[in-house]
Amino acid sequence: MRAQHEQPPPFATRATSVGGSPVREILALTERPGVISFAGGLPAPELFDTAGLRAAYDTALTTSARRALQYSTTEGAPELREAVAARATGRGLPTAPDDLIVTTGSQQALTLITATLVDPGDVVLVENPTYLAALQCFGMAGARVLAVPCDEDGILPDALEELVRRERPKLLYTVPTFQNPTGRTLPAARRAAVAATAARLGLWLVEDDPYGELRYDGAPVPWLAAHPGAEDRTALLGSFSKIMAPGLRLGWLRAPAALRRAAVVAKQAADLHTSTVDQLAAAHYLTAADLDAHVTRIRDAYRERRDALLAGLADALPEGSAWNRPEGGMFVWARLPQGHDATALLKSAVAHDVAFVPGAPFYSTEPDPRALRLSFTTHTPAEITEGLHRLTRATRTP
Ligand code: PMP
Repeated sequence: MRAQHEQPPPFATRATSVGGSPVREILALTERPGVISFAGGLPAPELFDTAGLRAAYDTALTTSARRALQYSTTEGAPELREAVAARATGRGLPTAPDDLIVTTGSQQALTLITATLVDPGDVVLVENPTYLAALQCFGMAGARVLAVPCDEDGILPDALEELVRRERPKLLYTVPTFQNPTGRTLPAARRAAVAATAARLGLWLVEDDPYGELRYDGAPVPWLAAHPGAEDRTALLGSFSKIMAPGLRLGWLRAPAALRRAAVVAKQAADLHTSTVDQLAAAHYLTAADLDAHVTRIRDAYRERRDALLAGLADALPEGSAWNRPEGGMFVWARLPQGHDATALLKSAVAHDVAFVPGAPFYSTEPDPRALRLSFTTHTPAEITEGLHRLTRATRTP
């Protein structure tokens, strides 16, 4: 006799309420060889310091294999925290190793902070548009995500203040430097105003900064975390993904003591600790190699690539389009003229073997169908120029 067959219970609401991106199917078509893609936000693989990293792994496994292959502490390897603290201090934010947790990519730091601070129904404020995987993270937590009005420089402090008073949010999530997706950088005066608002009205700040070291021109702007009022309420997220290699999955979280302790417990529940061998290799790399010189090499290459993209956009996009000129990072943000649609243009672009990402999925509110993001890091200037010629053809023969 056949046993009774009951369906297992349904998935959790959070697993079904957060969708993937609707443009993913179109972008899957861009994986085929020969496509020049401005879509992904990937570092240039030919610029990875493979030899330096191989040597660092070799040292980790030669000099301390028993430690490198063993379980380790949740907070992270002391020598790596020391190196990160020294770099943060050098960038103008006095930081002790104990202020930091090493995380499995900065994406995990965002998950830990969200797990620590956000109950279902809590209000989380974000820039509009913002980083897609942050929207997914807050969505998974059941947060009510509200967008802070922004202009071409980012958050409008008065609008932020108004929203905080009205909605009593738990936190503001911001990528203030070379934002993903817009490439925008929040000016220092606005950072000061955001920090003051957070202090006055009671608000956690989550400052996500994977791109800050990729500056091609202009002067550095101090971290939001360094502004008066922000000291005791900012979670600063950093990453080795864009300056070393994203496959390492190494990031860090700098947070006030109580928040950090709670995040450590959340991390224990998530993955116990970040890979020991990867942490020790990174620490050896920071001692033996010259990361600053490597970052300078990446910057020089990316600056040329950004300039190649900016130089060709006027011909490639339909007349009446507008775009910004980011001083760093990986992205240029553009807007097609009235009557155009970025998703429709992508379809025709893919037919011409060139791709970008429509801006719509990055909005937490009503999307702007005319917006698009162009990444300039993964192709050489000559390839970028060729990609733009293809885009010209795509815009003229839709
Ligand atoms: N934050 C932002 C704004 C990003 O763009 C990214 C990666 N593209 C991340 C976080 C995640 O980076 P990581 O590789 O350090 O997890």
